[in-house]
Amino acid sequence: MTLLKLKRHNDTELLLTWSDGATTTLSLQHMRNECPCANCKGETVLFERYEPPKLPVFTPGMYDLKKIDIVGNYSLQPLWGDGHHTGLYTYDYLRQISTPIAAE
Ligand SMILES: [Zn+2]
Repeated sequence: MTLLKLKRHNDTELLLTWSDGATTTLSLQHMRNECPCANCKGETVLFERYEPPKLPVFTPGMYDLKKIDIVGNYSLQPLWGDGHHTGLYTYDYLRQISTPIAAE
């Protein structure tokens, strides 16, 4: 699955266009909450799951998307308003967490 187009849909959502013709939306809040990085999601180490320490639920600017870098043609790395930028979202993962728009 390849992401063909990514744009800001409105203040709180992104609009993603996919190589199979589907269009999905993804709210910035949901995207940040589903951040796949080790700090946010924990990490599998030697078959034991490492759970990250509980962090404050909200930090100022955490849902504010500053920019997105394309990494290796298969994933996106967003920079958030609170400086968080270690999450690498593969296209497959983005497709999974975004919501399809019904075709007309
Ligand atoms: Zn993260």
